[in-house]
Amino acid sequence: MTAPALAPREVEYLERLARGESIQEIAQAWHYEESGARSIGERLRKKLGARTNTQAVFIAVQLKVLDPTRRHGDHAGFAAHRYRGEEPCDACWAGERAYRTERRAARKASMSNAA
Ligand SMILES: [Zn+2]
Repeated sequence: MTAPALAPREVEYLERLARGESIQEIAQAWHYEESGARSIGERLRKKLGARTNTQAVFIAVQLKVLDPTRRHGDHAGFAAHRYRGEEPCDACWAGERAYRTERRAARKASMSNAA
């Protein structure tokens, strides 16, 4: 079984489901109406022959559309995208921003301790 051609949004939908995001959270991240996110999900499930989102994620792993060894959503995931020469995904950007904020706060704290 070869993977059907999926749109980037459809792949991202799968990645977000795999990270445990709800339809509401996906819609919010994309600034979509919930119905817009749902219709992407419906089209995707039809392409994959899946009845549910859970089955869609499982099929996507079997088809290697999703790589369970790839890490997303944190500094390590961000660095891995960069290493592969890719633009980091939204989740990895968010994780990287949180990481940088944390690092900045830690630096600031250590500077005020030294003073
Ligand atoms: Zn990523």
